[in-house]
Amino acid sequence: MADNIADLILGGDPGTHLLQQAFSFDITLTKIRCAACNTVSGLGSLAVDGGSLEVRVRCADCGSDLMRARRTQKGCVLEMQGARHLYF
Ligand SMILES: [Zn+2]
Repeated sequence: MADNIADLILGGDPGTHLLQQAFSFDITLTKIRCAACNTVSGLGSLAVDGGSLEVRVRCADCGSDLMRARRTQKGCVLEMQGARHLYF
């Protein structure tokens, strides 16, 4: 992981704009497809379990974990192993 913000700049690459779009949306307005049961849900409508150090978003249909966000000593980690797609 880069310690200097200058190491994170992807300038000049045509894919940069797409990556910027992918990470600048309002997460609560997206739809998410469950990898286990293929259900598509509005992310903002799903229940969130957890607290200030870790939260999990579960599929409303099958209960599988769609997303897991946790705070570490070095930053935050977002896991999306249970999601097939995120639509934004
Ligand atoms: Zn599901």
